[in-house]
Amino acid sequence: MMTDPEGFDRRLGEVRLRIARAAERAGRDAGEITLMAVTKTHGPEAVDLAAEAGLRHIGENRVQEAAKKQHGVKAEVFWELIGPLQSNKARLAAAHFDRVQTVDRPKIVRALDRACGELGRSELPVLVQVNVSEDPRKAGVSVAEASALAESVHAAKHLRLEGLMTLPALDDDPEVARRAFAGLRELRDRLADGLGVPLSVLSMGMTGDLEAAVEEGSTLLRVGTALFGERETGFDA
Ligand SMILES: *Cc1c(COP(=O)(O)O)cnc(C)c1O
Repeated sequence: MMTDPEGFDRRLGEVRLRIARAAERAGRDAGEITLMAVTKTHGPEAVDLAAEAGLRHIGENRVQEAAKKQHGVKAEVFWELIGPLQSNKARLAAAHFDRVQTVDRPKIVRALDRACGELGRSELPVLVQVNVSEDPRKAGVSVAEASALAESVHAAKHLRLEGLMTLPALDDDPEVARRAFAGLRELRDRLADGLGVPLSVLSMGMTGDLEAAVEEGSTLLRVGTALFGERETGFDA
């Protein structure tokens, strides 16, 4: 799919304005919030377009799609896996991503840690994905099990736990997402205290709910549609 540069610049301006307004309402500095471009289903030119505009964090939800796309990308960017990871793809993920946001079970912790060891990769940054809304259709560890999982990531030799990620339940009521974001922040505070590490990254907020996410403390927004338009082959994580 072709991405149109002018449309992209205009949409980026609108997204930045939405972020700035929400940050202002919350008394936050918009400069502490990273806008990540989600380029799934789009070609390598979308990644280069985003990078040229200063968006260096690129989100992809499929390991193989990203690995293939990377060959066509000219810009130097930071690749983030935001889609579900199967343990048999852990090695490919560790080889092709700069951070994995979707660590949600012990088996994935072990598989990624082992893959990094084999690849000679000293530390792979990761986030633990939490299903704060307890939505059975969504991936993520439950709030009750998050602490044990975070401890195992923290103990893994080749992984560095940097924070938490969530994907709230889809709901017409924006308060549902807001509650999930507030819940993720509170959980982060508890886990950071318990582990004695900052867990500074809160990956939450997408096209439809980025204002609530900013107001609840997001440090990393994952935005696709608002930057690139509707996905033709729209599939979700
Ligand atoms: C696709 C996707 C996004 C981006 O969603 P938009 O609504 O297009 O902004 C964010 N996070 C995850 C995990 C996704 O799979």
